[in-house]
Amino acid sequence: MGYDANNIFARMVRGEIPCIRVHEDADTLAFMDIMPQADGHTLVIPKVAGENLFDTAPDSAAAAIRTTQRVARAVRSAFSPAGLIITQFNGAAAGQTVFHLHFHIVPVYTSGAWRPHAREKADPAALEAQAARIRAALAAG
Ligand code: AMP
Repeated sequence: MGYDANNIFARMVRGEIPCIRVHEDADTLAFMDIMPQADGHTLVIPKVAGENLFDTAPDSAAAAIRTTQRVARAVRSAFSPAGLIITQFNGAAAGQTVFHLHFHIVPVYTSGAWRPHAREKADPAALEAQAARIRAALAAG
């Protein structure tokens, strides 16, 4: 199966469906995961088509990593987690559910376990509030 240009993240890049955006530039987009595993769970994608790390051009993957590093710093500064995990899944067997390359930024807190992957939708108002904290941290540099 090839890349599906109508996957949900491709549609976000084209502005066809909304997302709770924290950062956008010419090459990448970062937004809140709507079924977060922890408060502050953010996703980063390159704008170009590519299912996973193997079929995305190195320059595009590099742009996504640069944005991931920048947004992860902002998430760390906004939420002060004990740690922070970056994940990226390749293939359904590895846990991938949306087939457009993306990096998860997931804070780890000392209190409370991770919520299950892609299971429960969060309150949109809570996600907006978290996004505002991340945007402010990005703006502060
Ligand atoms: P993966 O399993 O690595 O492919 O992760 C896909 C992620 O996308 C999951 O964590 C989902 O919660 C998240 N997700 C699915 N639909 C949306 C959406 N409309 N907006 C934001 N995140 C989404």
